[in-house]
Amino acid sequence: MESRTARQAHGGHQLTDLPDRVLVIVAHPDDAEAAAGGTVAKFVREGAQVAFCIVTNGDKGSGDRTMTPERLTTIRQKEQRNAARVLGVETVEFLGFSDCEVENTHAARAAVTAAIRRHRPDLVLTQNPNRTKRLGASHRDHRIVGGIALDCVYPLARDHMAFPELLAQGLEPHVVKEVHLMVWENPELVVDITETIDLKIAALACHASQMPNRVALDKSVRERHARFGQIQGYRYAEIFTRMM
Ligand SMILES: [Zn+2]
Repeated sequence: MESRTARQAHGGHQLTDLPDRVLVIVAHPDDAEAAAGGTVAKFVREGAQVAFCIVTNGDKGSGDRTMTPERLTTIRQKEQRNAARVLGVETVEFLGFSDCEVENTHAARAAVTAAIRRHRPDLVLTQNPNRTKRLGASHRDHRIVGGIALDCVYPLARDHMAFPELLAQGLEPHVVKEVHLMVWENPELVVDITETIDLKIAALACHASQMPNRVALDKSVRERHARFGQIQGYRYAEIFTRMM
């Protein structure tokens, strides 16, 4: 294992500190790869342990009139596990909330707090809780899940008297050092993903129920991330804002 300093020296991230443990908290199967697949693959290459926490089943994401939510849940979980494997992510948790119906409830906060306490990340990557001009990016589930994740990072995961039932299960309080929000405009953090964009596209292609056209997927992903890369002079980049 390289030292933290060595990893920082060639990491190319503009992080406060390179994390040992990262937890990605998103609404749907495919959200992690779409916004942060290149960054996740880069963390894995640098020796970080990355886990995915997928809050909803994604069980409404189909135009096929013969599809059922149950069948779609199974398909999308399998696609998500395959995509995670491509990126080198070993742990994928599905919290099982219903697509388009997740709310910032006690139950949702308890489930996400439990995930944070289980994985004990230095860094959480999650979605932007704010409505933005890009309607698709600010899907209600993305906003709600981003809000839940931030509520759980601070203060619920940290405070031992929040959700005493979690303590009883051995899930001790945990302090997350930093949060990066996935954004599609006005970044504070531009991550060079030139070396991992092929993995990102391969991972996205695992979500065949959502992205059946590999050629169109490849083109749109390269165009978008080349545009983000121009901000810092990288060939391809993903972008975030930072909270701590
Ligand atoms: Zn989504």
